Parts: sequence; C-alpha cells; structure tokens
Amino acid sequence: MKLIMLGAPGAGKGTQAKKIAEKYQIPHISTGDIFRANIKGQTELGMKAKSFMDQGMLVPDEITIGMLLDRIHEADCAGGYVLDGFPRTIPQAESLTKALAEMGTGIDYAINVDVPDDNIVSRMSGRRACLNCGATYHVAFNPPKTENVCNTCGQSLVLRDDDKPETVKKRLDVYHQQTQPLIDYYKKAGVLKEVDGTQNMEDVFQSIIKVLGAE
Ligand code: ADP
Ligand code: AMP
Repeated sequence: MKLIMLGAPGAGKGTQAKKIAEKYQIPHISTGDIFRANIKGQTELGMKAKSFMDQGMLVPDEITIGMLLDRIHEADCAGGYVLDGFPRTIPQAESLTKALAEMGTGIDYAINVDVPDDNIVSRMSGRRACLNCGATYHVAFNPPKTENVCNTCGQSLVLRDDDKPETVKKRLDVYHQQTQPLIDYYKKAGVLKEVDGTQNMEDVFQSIIKVLGAE
C-alpha cells in the first residue's frame, strides 16, 4: 500500500503516519525527518536545507525531489510506504506520479488530515520532538511519561526552531499557497480521502483505517 499524508503543518500527519506504518508494517518516510537527520549529521544536504527550514520556507524542489525518489527506490519500499510531508508542491507531486508510472505503479490513497488554522498554532507550540529517534509528543494532548524525556530512547525533547509562533504563521501561509492545491490534484486523480483531524488521535486513526477499508 502506497499512501500520502496531506494536511497543514501540525495537522497530525506524522502522528498518524507512524501508527499506519506500524499497523501495515510499511516504512514511514518523512522528508522533514530526513532533513533534520541531515542537519544533525551536518551533511551538505542538511546545511542547504536548514536555512530554508528555519525561515518556515520549503526546501527547493531540486533538492527535495531527488532525495525522496532515491528513498522510495530502496529495497524496504517494495511493499509500499506512507509518505509524510511529501509532496508539498505540484512539481513534487508530478515528479512522484511520473516516477511511479515508470515503475508501473501509483499512489493508492492520499489522506487529507483536515485541521483549521486556529487549532494549528496551539498544536505546534505544544509539540515536543525527539531529534534522536523522531518521536513526537504534545505537552497537553500526548505528553511523554517523564517531562521532556523521550519514552522510546530517553533523549531530551526539544521545541523545534520552526515551531516557534512567528515561523508557524509563515509555514501556514506557505502551506495555503503551495501545498493546499495538492488536495485538488489528488481528488482529480481519484485517490483523495478526507479525515477530520480535529478529533483525538485515536479517533483520527480509526477514521483513517475505515477509509482504507481495513475494517
Ligand atoms: P505534522 O506531522 O502534521 O506536522 P504532528 O503529527 O507532529 O503534525 O502533530 C503536531 C502536534 O499536534 C504534535 O505535538 C502532536 O502530538 C499533536 N497532535 C497530533 N494529532 C493530534 C490530535 N488528533 N489531537 C491533538 N493533538 C494532536
Ligand atoms: P515537517 O517535519 O514535515 O513539518 O517539515 C519541516 C520542514 O522541512 C518544512 O517546513 C520544510 O522547510 C522542509 N520540508 C519537509 N518536507 C518538504 C518538502 N516535501 N518540500 C519542501 N520542503 C520540505
């Protein structure tokens, strides 16, 4: 199964993608996580991406598309995957469609996790991330067992630089301008599924399972 998670920054794409990946035993591929791992490892790709990310802008397509296409050609992707944070622009979506067509396949579902802008700022300001293993928490909605410590790997949690309110506003503008048109793109392709992302995390997940037809 090949899935795409659509939705505003902070809508819950990563939270749900992790649950989907676990249930269906497919890799969770987050372009944001790949960029953050490269920033941590101080690679050339990471250095290029960081300046854009810190400003709440998208990393240019020339960098992002090749990186994602390389990843989905790896062996563990043969049985499908869930993409989180890609595509974010029409050219990214078109490149993905073309690459998959060349492989004789296509996306099964694009799931739009719908959350209004008003809810987004509180979700992002409360998000705490583990930059070691990629786990994500929320101070109120999904707190770790010990304050500021990752349940999975024990490292300290951080407020991502790009989750500060001034950057969140910019990221939302970028989302509306460049990423929201993908909802129409995948609707026209006949694979769009809409889910109400304002429900609690477990109910959002149940809604996704239902639309995937697994129940
Ligand atoms: P995205 O990957 O779309 O940017 P995340 O999955 O990281 O978003 O979620 C953003 C923040 O909101 C996180 O702190 C997460 O714990 C929290 N969150 C995710 N889903 C829900 C939900 N259904 N209700 C409340 N908070 C949520
Ligand atoms: P995320 O972890 O999905 O919230 O992404 C964090 C940041 O990484 C975004 O604000 C962008 O700067 C960058 N990024 C992640 N995925 C993409 C993408 N598909 N295209 C461009 N930039 C991206």
